[in-house]
Amino acid sequence: MMGTQRHRLVLIPPPFQGHLTPMLQLATILHSRGFSITVAHAHFNSSDPSNHPNLNHPNFCFLPLSYGLSDTHVSSKNIVDITATLNEKCVSPITEVLVDQIEKANINHEKIACVIYDGLIYSIDSVARELKLPSIVLRTTSATNFLTYHASFQRQTSGCHPLQDSSLDLVPELEPLRFKDLPMFNSGDMLKEIAKTVAVRPSLGVICNTVDCLEEESLHRLHQVYKMSFFPIGPLHMIAGEDSPSSSFVEEDYSCIDWLKNQPRKSVLYVSLGSIASWEEKELTEVAWGLANSKQRFLWVIRPGTISDISEWLQSLPKDVRVAIEERGCIVKWAPQGEVLAHQGVGGFWSHCGWNSTLESLSEGVPIMCQPHFGDQRVNARLLSHVWKVGIEWSNVMERDEIEGAVRRLMVNPEGKEMRQKALKLKNEIKIAISNITNLDLTFSFFHFQKEKKNQ
Ligand code: UDP
Repeated sequence: MMGTQRHRLVLIPPPFQGHLTPMLQLATILHSRGFSITVAHAHFNSSDPSNHPNLNHPNFCFLPLSYGLSDTHVSSKNIVDITATLNEKCVSPITEVLVDQIEKANINHEKIACVIYDGLIYSIDSVARELKLPSIVLRTTSATNFLTYHASFQRQTSGCHPLQDSSLDLVPELEPLRFKDLPMFNSGDMLKEIAKTVAVRPSLGVICNTVDCLEEESLHRLHQVYKMSFFPIGPLHMIAGEDSPSSSFVEEDYSCIDWLKNQPRKSVLYVSLGSIASWEEKELTEVAWGLANSKQRFLWVIRPGTISDISEWLQSLPKDVRVAIEERGCIVKWAPQGEVLAHQGVGGFWSHCGWNSTLESLSEGVPIMCQPHFGDQRVNARLLSHVWKVGIEWSNVMERDEIEGAVRRLMVNPEGKEMRQKALKLKNEIKIAISNITNLDLTFSFFHFQKEKKNQ
């Protein structure tokens, strides 16, 4: 179908774990469908390319770019600030890379078929247009979350101020979401960044890391609201399957898989807040107490930097709690989450409900104790608890008794068992949906949307 000329795709992820991972999964999938791939990524906050199984393949290359961001920016946790600066500084290096890629492609009898960039790097929209390159945006949050932006901006235009609204009222066009579930834009800067990402108009459309059986209605409404093509191609980690590279910024600690092997089926609660959200020391102590009092087994990720000295903190806990951690717990700095969730020992996930974690849990049939922290996580939590009904909505009160109660609801009570069954059913539905996508042949659909666009 692609003739003698190879088609190269240039993929541009931002330097955040939850965005880089799905972009690399998409790269893997498209490479396996015959495309040559260039991944142009920031030289900081990137995964180790040597983990990538395709590294030695001549048609797959990584290009680290220096965006000229200062160390202060990189180490700050201010994602809005990093995103704004990244967009400001990336235009010139990305333009250079693309011009260079076009020249190289000519020499190698290739063609740059498309630039695929993450919606957070909205500046690439105009760069691609200027160079007359077809473009696609990858959205790494749920389709429903993308719809909430539209609803929020519409309200703002009509004079309401819903953006800090913490009310429990249902949002009419987004039920069962409540105003309090919508992503909060705490500052004018954040609002500006979101407005810019919503405004991008990639020439070929948007790939959403989702699947019809989870978000059919939202996907349908996205077409109507934004007047663009949205292609649900996900969960990407499942389509990429075994070829999926490890893209972790932190080294994964596989000792927890050995530990899991010795635990009874579905007995372990996996506790992780992803790559950004965290608990303060006082909250960590309540978590330790709550987990110990629940009498359940647990695998707990405490990321480097969460606490200054973890051994000292563990020593400061009362003896009963320490004994419970030693007997029933395993603490690691970073887990191979995909394998953990797929392990038969795991029966529940206490999660911040990042979209990757949500998809990874759903595709393994693991129900979730939802503790959203910010951004799209509240939307995902509401979908888990009120649409798919595989997630426990709890008070989020970080006190040991509340935590113990929520853990027992998920791991022991009939409510949790019912959710586990529903989650397994959903896992099957997702599997069937994936096999349909694969049969459709992604390569074909990809060129199909180029053809459609031309005919419009
Ligand atoms: N993750 C992991 N090991 C951990 C914790 C998280 O591999 O110990 C991965 C997880 O599998 C997911 C990503 O980090 O792919 C987190 O993305 P998500 O969208 O869930 O949350 P974010 O970090 O963006 O808030």
